[in-house]
Amino acid sequence: MSNYSQKVTLTEKGHVLIPKVLRDNLGWSLGDTIVISLNTDGNLLTLESYTGQQGNENMRGVIDNWGRLTLPKEIKECLGWGVADILILLQAIEGKKAFLKRFQQYESKCVICKTSEVIAKINNSGACKQCVETLRKSLAV
Ligand SMILES: [Zn+2]
Repeated sequence: MSNYSQKVTLTEKGHVLIPKVLRDNLGWSLGDTIVISLNTDGNLLTLESYTGQQGNENMRGVIDNWGRLTLPKEIKECLGWGVADILILLQAIEGKKAFLKRFQQYESKCVICKTSEVIAKINNSGACKQCVETLRKSLAV
């Protein structure tokens, strides 16, 4: 899906730096309006140039003089993204689009048994269903 990826940090003001190399790849300039849309799973943003047609005003941002894009508050709330979250910026091979998603810092395997898929997360670690049940039972005694 992508031939470019870059980790970026969400700032206090909701800025995300769009590196120059990516702006050049996509043909984006400082001052350009970017349309930000949320995918159906609610975990990935699509960024593309505004052509005068897509979306509503709340779902657009302008690339400022420092190459930063401000993410709308509604989107951050919807995704649960906050200050200092590490995001990954990806460039789509087809079309002049980029994607933005949260970098998964936790392990995808259970920290207790190391084998099963995580269902519950605590900070950056996760536990599987069986281990959570075992813990729950041990507490209930
Ligand atoms: Zn487990």
